[in-house]
Amino acid sequence: MRGLSRVRLFNVRVARLAAAIVMMTLGATAALAQSPKSAPPEIPPPKEEPRSVRPGQNGGAPSDAIVLFDGKDLSKWESADGQPAKWRIDQGALVVAPKTGDIRTKEKFGDCQLHIEWATPSVVQGEGQGRGNSGVYLQNRYEIQVLDSYQNKTYFHGQAGSLYKQYAPLVNVTRPPGEWQTYDIVFRAPRFGADGEVQRPGSVSVFHNGVLVQDHVEIKGSTTHEGGPVYEAHGPDSIKLQDHGNETRFRNIWIRKLN
Ligand code: MG
Repeated sequence: MRGLSRVRLFNVRVARLAAAIVMMTLGATAALAQSPKSAPPEIPPPKEEPRSVRPGQNGGAPSDAIVLFDGKDLSKWESADGQPAKWRIDQGALVVAPKTGDIRTKEKFGDCQLHIEWATPSVVQGEGQGRGNSGVYLQNRYEIQVLDSYQNKTYFHGQAGSLYKQYAPLVNVTRPPGEWQTYDIVFRAPRFGADGEVQRPGSVSVFHNGVLVQDHVEIKGSTTHEGGPVYEAHGPDSIKLQDHGNETRFRNIWIRKLN
């Protein structure tokens, strides 16, 4: 009997020990769950103070912008063939002269913020892609479509505010024909390796009349009218405005370099 009691006593002690271990484990787990996360380290302040920039008035150029067109002359522009730009200036606006060809900036740009104002003809002619068509080409290749998309149907990735044939605008905020409209564009140029392959695709954000219509979309390649977009390696290049045969107007064009 005494031997049996010892065995029973031993079993009771083992059971108590096991229970104690379980309780300790549960307690430790609960304490861990309740302990606050360690706070992330504070972000060190940048070493360089942001430059001072004097903002523009009423959509005008800020102090660090390059003014590409101020309503007076075309000195910053040339035809796509390198000849003097043939578009006309009318009451402070740069007007497409149909069939004289595209025009481009003499200066070439990389990453940039671009502000440009445009108005499609107040007298409505044509339909679809034939109504007030022009375009703002980034680095001479990537077209942000300019079109009279006020009550004018066309394919969605070809209407105003589209990255032509790649992305439709998020919304259609086109004003009626003849009214001035704004594009504010943030463009990050594609990067290419020494082998000519894309290392990082370009991207673009567009505000049309102050409303976001392209939200940092990835550019798939040069704008094409038929077939899919393809990248070709290139460096900084011009801003180009399209002659699509319609007398669309432009004004207050300025650009800020972002690199
Ligand atoms: Mg166009």
